[in-house]
Amino acid sequence: MTNLHRLSIRELSEGLQQGKFSSRELTQHYLKRIEKIDAQVKSYVTVTPELALSQADAADAAIKAGNATALAGIPLAHKDIFCTQGVRTSAGSKMLDNFISPYDATVVTKAKAAGLVTLGKVNMDEFAMGSTSESSYYGATKNPWNLDYVPGGSSGGSAAVVAADLAPFATGTDTGGSIRQPASFCGLTGLKPTYGRVSRFGIIAFASSLDQAGPMARSAEDCAYLMNVIAGHDAKDSTSVDKEVDDYVANLHATSVKGLRIGIPKQYFNVAGLAADVKARVEESLKKLEDMGAILVEVDLNMVEAYVPTYYLIAPAEASSNLSRYDGVRYGYRCENPVDLMDLYKRSRSEGFGEEVKRRILIGTYALSAGYYDAYYVKAQKVRRLIQQDFLKAFENVDVIAAPSAPTTAYKIGANLSPTEMYLGDVYTLAVNLAGLPAINAPVGLDDHNLPVGLQLIGNYWSESQLLSIVHQYQQNTDFHTQRAAIAEENA
Ligand code: GLN
Repeated sequence: MTNLHRLSIRELSEGLQQGKFSSRELTQHYLKRIEKIDAQVKSYVTVTPELALSQADAADAAIKAGNATALAGIPLAHKDIFCTQGVRTSAGSKMLDNFISPYDATVVTKAKAAGLVTLGKVNMDEFAMGSTSESSYYGATKNPWNLDYVPGGSSGGSAAVVAADLAPFATGTDTGGSIRQPASFCGLTGLKPTYGRVSRFGIIAFASSLDQAGPMARSAEDCAYLMNVIAGHDAKDSTSVDKEVDDYVANLHATSVKGLRIGIPKQYFNVAGLAADVKARVEESLKKLEDMGAILVEVDLNMVEAYVPTYYLIAPAEASSNLSRYDGVRYGYRCENPVDLMDLYKRSRSEGFGEEVKRRILIGTYALSAGYYDAYYVKAQKVRRLIQQDFLKAFENVDVIAAPSAPTTAYKIGANLSPTEMYLGDVYTLAVNLAGLPAINAPVGLDDHNLPVGLQLIGNYWSESQLLSIVHQYQQNTDFHTQRAAIAEENA
């Protein structure tokens, strides 16, 4: 079979279980594609063929023996922020270029237990700080729809591997939009779960009160399969919540679009910088949902102007604390010939971190310092609460809230946005993390340059099933999610 990379997760599962192809064949098929195409896309930081083939053989044996789980033998790529035992875990940073993790993140452990095959680790903005994947120590990943453009970030590698058919699905993390925005830029479906739904254990920390892992795939159905694997309580993460996990696949039809109340925050559609064709595609998708029986209701979200400043205080504050562990002493990069301890700290950090990471450490340290703490950090926490309350009030009237995932489609590589310009591009995603809510991106068509546009649906707490179900039904009635990126078409 030559088109194995075109099969959905359900089709892969059926094909494997029915013996139409083996996991070894499937895995080799993907490894060959990576070898052939990834020099152009630059999505993988590390490919793990030996690990993949040994996991594939174990899956094949389990399938033969009749005791395999449903997803056994299906390949997966992990964002290089998930610790993988015995495999380099770089977080896209020179600081961790030499770091071989001694243990697996819980998400990785769960993926292994489900019989999934690790193809490798994929590129990302350094320490997940960014929106283009250009800040990686390993260089920029390209957008499979047009190689002159970025795939988004920080989970740009995860988006690019799926869009280029170099993995059937991938893990990502989302601190302020890093699953939804790259999914939007690459025409994919990506889910940011409720804070606490997926364990953060073994995920290299950026901003601990905002970080959350989730699936990136071609469809809501494929995302549901991965959610079934990774969701759940973990005693190793004190912020993970001990709450029953839905069967996301079984629930794909559980929510009725008929009568569903979709909130349209008018403030979101008046944001300066919202591109005309993004607005048009999003409005068309809402019209489609309306045709399917949904009711569009205007809602007020009044805090839009506070999103960017609040996030860009809290996230750097937490980052400055989390990143203090990289001191050149315990692990990671160490400078050559330090003259004393201070020199070791200073030069290891100066040489090991990139520009954006240093900027965040400076901002965060400043905001947390005595004298400024109350004025900035404490104030930001209060505004964060107001942002959450604003959402809860809106959810009294509606089931979900619709918005663009990003004000524009993908940027050109090297566009060199100023930090402020880049931060403003996150306006539609940040508040979801500040409030801890779940949200999903679904592809809803292309702009004038043939680049994908994404619709974001934001749900109330623990409504992952509902979000996946709505997007699944939308995808049953449309074919935007089946459109393929240029490089995938050229290598069909
Ligand atoms: N683009 C945002 C930032 O730079 C969000 C990143 C993320 O979600 N990891 O912080």
